[in-house]
Amino acid sequence: MSRTPLLLLLMAAGLSAQPKRILMITDGEGIAGICRQEQVEPENPELRQMLAAEANAAAEGFFQGGADEVVIWDGHDGSRTLSATNIHDRARLLMGAVSHTGTLERGYSAIAFVGQHAMANVRKAIMGHSFSSLGIQNMKTNGTPVGEIGIWAGLAGERGIPAIFLSGDQAAVDEMKVIVPNAEYVAVKEGLARYTCLTVSSRRAQEMIREGARKSMAKLGQVKPHIVPGPVTIEVEYTTRNSLTADHGTREGTEVVDDRTIRYKGATLAEAWKRYRGR
Ligand SMILES: [Zn+2]
Repeated sequence: MSRTPLLLLLMAAGLSAQPKRILMITDGEGIAGICRQEQVEPENPELRQMLAAEANAAAEGFFQGGADEVVIWDGHDGSRTLSATNIHDRARLLMGAVSHTGTLERGYSAIAFVGQHAMANVRKAIMGHSFSSLGIQNMKTNGTPVGEIGIWAGLAGERGIPAIFLSGDQAAVDEMKVIVPNAEYVAVKEGLARYTCLTVSSRRAQEMIREGARKSMAKLGQVKPHIVPGPVTIEVEYTTRNSLTADHGTREGTEVVDDRTIRYKGATLAEAWKRYRGR
């Protein structure tokens, strides 16, 4: 046997020996059948039921595809939508205020998005926003518009963790395909306008998500981590109602661009993000 196949064999053995751990980030606006503002209230019974069902379908798919561990992070609005009463028996639920360092430093094989929406200012995105509909008008990394998908994929990417799966509306799928072309994607609805959508049934969405999540596990080792090249700037254009405090832009690594916009700088995305979020 030549050296190359032996080396490949050893690498493959090493890869399969590692436990496969998936961090699933959930959100509300990208769930099938969710199309109106009041439906994304964390107390909304329809949202709670359909989000849990989609998250569980994804978890089941990841386990079928060989995952050893699935952590479901309740990422929607204050982490109040999912409940331990009805999550997948083999999954664990991550609840509460979570910082990217506190989450990602636990080490995962991949991250995945379920129920994800697109960034702010995208016309055909259903309730698209970047972290806050009320507080943030626009967000950019290195001058390019970015939303939750790009930030999370980038923060994970800096730690060598790829994003292998996304389910959500078509606009969210299109957004992530730009930065991760070969992940596995499931569009459960199409946005015709911000509050107008064409959706599949919740049950059909669960089938599609289970299948997509299962298939995405075969892409571990193929999908490259998404890296935002450093040094990194994060520009946050706040809304008029979210007026800046007096010390905004005075801290290290921050700069006032205009009366509603602050630029946060860092050698890496994580450093710039920490300066923006403070954690
Ligand atoms: Zn969100």
